[in-house]
Amino acid sequence: MACRDGQTLSALVEKARKLSFEGKVANYIPALQKESPDHLSCAIAYPEGDCFSAGDINKKFTLQSISKIITLALVLMDYGPERVFHRVGMEPTGDPFNSIIKLETSSKAKPLNPMINAGALAVTSMIKGSSAEEKVDYIMNFVKKLTNEPEIDYCEEVAISEFTTSFLNRSLCFYMKGDGVIHGNVEEIMEVYTKQCAIRLNCLQLARVGLVFAMDGRNPLTDEQVMPKEVARICKTFMVTCGMYNASGEFAIRIGIPAKSGVSGGIMGSVPGRMGIGIFGPALNEVGNSHTGLKLLELLQEKYDLSMF
Ligand code: GLN
Repeated sequence: MACRDGQTLSALVEKARKLSFEGKVANYIPALQKESPDHLSCAIAYPEGDCFSAGDINKKFTLQSISKIITLALVLMDYGPERVFHRVGMEPTGDPFNSIIKLETSSKAKPLNPMINAGALAVTSMIKGSSAEEKVDYIMNFVKKLTNEPEIDYCEEVAISEFTTSFLNRSLCFYMKGDGVIHGNVEEIMEVYTKQCAIRLNCLQLARVGLVFAMDGRNPLTDEQVMPKEVARICKTFMVTCGMYNASGEFAIRIGIPAKSGVSGGIMGSVPGRMGIGIFGPALNEVGNSHTGLKLLELLQEKYDLSMF
């Protein structure tokens, strides 16, 4: 069964929105704290081209950690899994997404997986291009293909806000650089990373990205194979094992779909062969996942049996 009725979706969004007071908008990136905690929007995109949405779907938000799955797909395409997994592991973690502890305590500062900040920074260090600008353009062109939108940009204010305050991410880079896990200029890696995190979409565009992964890398709107099936498969597997940070196990049990969240309050879902989901709800829980977004996904799972397990 699928949700093909905007009214029902609106009712579920309103029900989940009532819990926004239990969450908190991220403030460690100063520009993010301007968002209103009770915003909640959702879009569901289907392979046939139809789409259902609720809430203010014109509202744009920054991808933050959701961008990690996009850059991972790019480097997997450019270098192949073996070279990527030489730099970054495949194992989930019980530590927070920005933790440095595993880099310090393992014999080599190889990040556990590409969905935590250390792993994502290692992935970003591999993005092709001869300057930060070229690398950011390369990522944005890929997002244009995924969304089928010619006008994708990033939010300069959020990018600068993170770039100027992100001392912990810089530390992760220096640790990895010290152990030869990443090469290159840390400031340039930080510039590309903060800009990729600041790419902004609305929930409908995000649902379309989720749909491409759900359809094994094919964009059903253009019929273009945007990435090989194998790359989409690896990305979806990481979404299941690590996509919701150190709450990925609970998410697999409660909802059971490949998903990736970001501290802006975005969640991208990819229900294999069925649909892409884009949610924006900036009220976060203590792990950094959208509190209202999770509630909404739980309601959708109960009603439409989304779980793949
Ligand atoms: N830009 C954010 C950071 O590096 C992304 C983290 C997130 O969304 N969890 O802290």
